[in-house]
Amino acid sequence: MFNTQEIARFKETPTPFYYYKLELLEETLNAVKKASSLYDYHIHYAFKANTNTEILELIQKNGLGADCVSGNEVKKAIECGFTSEQIVFAGVGKTDAEINIALDHNIFCFNCESIPELEVINELAAVKGKTAQIALRINPNVAANTHAYITTGLEENKFGINMWELEDVLVALADMKNVNLIGLHFHIGSQITDLNDFKGLCLRVNEIQEWFYERQIIVKHINVGGGLGIDYENPMENPIPDFNAFFKVFKDFIELRHQQELHFELGRSIVGQCGTLVSKVLYVKNGVKTNFAIIDAGMTELIRPALYQAVHSIENLTSNSSKIKRYDVVGPICESSDCFGKSLMLSNTKRGHYIAIHSCGAYGEVMASQYNLRDLVKAVY
Ligand SMILES: *Cc1c(COP(=O)(O)O)cnc(C)c1O
Repeated sequence: MFNTQEIARFKETPTPFYYYKLELLEETLNAVKKASSLYDYHIHYAFKANTNTEILELIQKNGLGADCVSGNEVKKAIECGFTSEQIVFAGVGKTDAEINIALDHNIFCFNCESIPELEVINELAAVKGKTAQIALRINPNVAANTHAYITTGLEENKFGINMWELEDVLVALADMKNVNLIGLHFHIGSQITDLNDFKGLCLRVNEIQEWFYERQIIVKHINVGGGLGIDYENPMENPIPDFNAFFKVFKDFIELRHQQELHFELGRSIVGQCGTLVSKVLYVKNGVKTNFAIIDAGMTELIRPALYQAVHSIENLTSNSSKIKRYDVVGPICESSDCFGKSLMLSNTKRGHYIAIHSCGAYGEVMASQYNLRDLVKAVY
């Protein structure tokens, strides 16, 4: 995956650090644009996956919109050149200050998750003499085949408005002069690799549209969120997700009304594979069943394995030994969950070797912390 020039550069850079391959990001963006333009689908990049300026600017240049989940993300989107008509703002807990930021920028749409939230947006918009465009985030009660912590479309999750609340929402909306319903929004989870889950979402969306249609409501757009997964096991063989197959599911199964737009919010599938966490081996401890390779990156740099048992492909970049041994690759933090991989077969590993943890472009650096007073991790492009 990395050439000798890149490895030489790694050796000159203090570890640990994130290495982003912008060429791969560009290729991924070309793939997503090509696949989505077949059907005129609109793509908003989910900022929360990675908010590095270089990455955001490249995404903006390629014409994608922005899906933001905080006031600061809305501000960052504007700073990076996204236009207000490209910005959607989601989240179950938008503060008044954040709503005001989004109102000041006249963003395209607020994805709203409850009646109390709608009331606040209505009030704040009234103060400014504006009308906020809103979409209702509906909990479709569709299961996604992914880790429980990243499934979001079930009744038991905190997200969205449940079907049985919709009648009340419409009654409430009828009295709100400063919000305008323009869309329906859904998001069933993340790292979804079974496209059947998206088919399930499409069929559910069709039923829900029917429910609205019976009440003489046709919204301008349907937003089906994100969630397309990436190949964490074989990042080299599959660096770019199959966007064609993904969009085709929607083409085949969702029933859009006349001139209704379809929007997506993709995060992981766009930036996931372009980032690698590069680290150095500090010590090797020989154990009974396995050996421990203790590296200088920890859960402070990449929390996904500790947070939701995520599996990343791990490679020793600099060992030239042909001997293969078993290792647990662990970080230096005082938590047992600070472990990147158990029982991995790596070529003979020694102090000073460089370790690559692949597929870290999404939900990696953005979640870094300074726990144990560690330095915040740096990025290299
Ligand atoms: C996190 C999130 C996304 C992006 O999810 P990915 O799995 O990274 O594509 C999109 N929409 C909403 C509402 C989200 O919360």
